[in-house]
Amino acid sequence: MTDSQTTVAQLKQAIHELCLQKGWGDQNGIQNPQHVAMAMTVEMSELLERFQWLEPGQVQDLLDGKDPARARQIGEEFADVMMYGLQLMYSLDIDVAREIELKIGIVLKRPNGVRGRNIPKETTEHEP
Ligand SMILES: [Mg+2]
Repeated sequence: MTDSQTTVAQLKQAIHELCLQKGWGDQNGIQNPQHVAMAMTVEMSELLERFQWLEPGQVQDLLDGKDPARARQIGEEFADVMMYGLQLMYSLDIDVAREIELKIGIVLKRPNGVRGRNIPKETTEHEP
């Protein structure tokens, strides 16, 4: 599988089949979405751990492709995060591409330079 050859639907299906093969979740391979969301944050922490205490030069090395071992670890943890995320979207029948498209539309409506918590509430529809 590569990004250019694989659809989001194929990834969701592959992860669902993994759940079924491993006996995770209920008889349909569906795990409690609350548990999956919580597990996703644990994996997100593991991803952040790969960046913990890096000096700016080390970050630049990563960007320049000079630390393939760390990049590989980051990829592995990102896969964990994405696998839980896609599992969550599968179980709740949420279309990831549609949600991202909607979110891009919301962000484009914001004034430039406005991010996250500084967003006036009336400009957010999905804002957490
Ligand atoms: Mg992990």
